[in-house]
Amino acid sequence: MQSIGPLIIVEGPKNSKVPFSRSLYLNCDEKVLIDTGANPKDLLKVEEEYGVKLILNTHYHPDHTQHNHLFPNAEKWMNPIEYETARTIEGIARSNGVYQEWGEEGIKLWKENLPLEWIQNLGEISGTYDYETEYSFGGIKVIMLHTPGHTSGLASPYFPDLGVAFVSDYDMTAFGPWYNGTDGDIEDFIKSGERLLELDADTYITGHQKGVFSKQEFKEAMKRYLAIINKRDEKIENYVSKGFTFDELSRVGIFYPKRTLEIPIFRTWERGGIRKHLQRLGIIISETDGALVSCR
Ligand SMILES: [Zn+2]
Repeated sequence: MQSIGPLIIVEGPKNSKVPFSRSLYLNCDEKVLIDTGANPKDLLKVEEEYGVKLILNTHYHPDHTQHNHLFPNAEKWMNPIEYETARTIEGIARSNGVYQEWGEEGIKLWKENLPLEWIQNLGEISGTYDYETEYSFGGIKVIMLHTPGHTSGLASPYFPDLGVAFVSDYDMTAFGPWYNGTDGDIEDFIKSGERLLELDADTYITGHQKGVFSKQEFKEAMKRYLAIINKRDEKIENYVSKGFTFDELSRVGIFYPKRTLEIPIFRTWERGGIRKHLQRLGIIISETDGALVSCR
C-alpha cells in the first residue's frame, strides 16, 4: 500500500475502477478511513493492522460506501447534505433519476434489485461532518471541502499541511465527468473542478483509475476532463439538428456505450445526463414523436 506521510492509499480491485474505488486511511490515534470502495481484503488488513474507529464517506454512492459494513464498530459519517437522502431507499432512487425517468414503477423495480448489504451500510451511517471546517485527527489536519456537481453533497478531503487533496469522483477518467443523477449539476461540476485547481496542494488523489497526480498533471487532466462536457454538448446539438427525439437521443450513447444502454440503471443515467445538457443548451425536444418543439 502506497503512503504519503501519514496517509495510506488503499486500492480497489482493477485499478479502483467502478464499481470499486480507492480509500484513504489516516494513520493516527483516531484511526480514520475515508470511503470504503477499496478491495475488502486490503480494508480488512488495515483494520487488523491499524484499526478503524471512524469512517468518513465523501458521498453516498455505492462505489464509495459499499464496504462500510466490514467495520461494524466504527462510527460512520456522511456529508450533511446527503445524510437524509442516504437513509431512505426512496431518497436514493430519486437522486439517481429513477423516479424522474420511470415513475413509481421504476422505484418498485429498483427496490427489488438493490443489494442488501448496501442498504445496511447506508442505514448504519450515524452522523455528519461539517464542510469547510478544519478537523484535526491525531494532528492530521483535514478540511472536507464542499465540491458539488457530481452529487449535490460531494466532499473532497483536503489536507492543507500535507498539500494533498483526495478528489474522489473528479477521477480524470476517459469516461469524463459524471453528474447524471437528479442531484448532479454541470455548472457546479465545472466550478468545483476549478476550485480544486486553486488549492495549495501538490498531490491529488482520485477515487478511480490512475490515482496519484502531481498538480501539473492534475491541471492538464482537468482541462481534458472538463472539455468532455463541451463535446457532449456538440454531439447532442448535432443529433437534435437531425430531428432526433429525446427517446432516440437516449439510445445513441452520449455517455455510456450504446451496447450497455439496455441495462436499466445506465439507461436511467444516460437519460438524466442528456436532460441536463438539453437544459444547459436551452433546447426543448419532443419526448417521443419526432417533432422538434423549439430550439433556442
Ligand atoms: Zn460517485
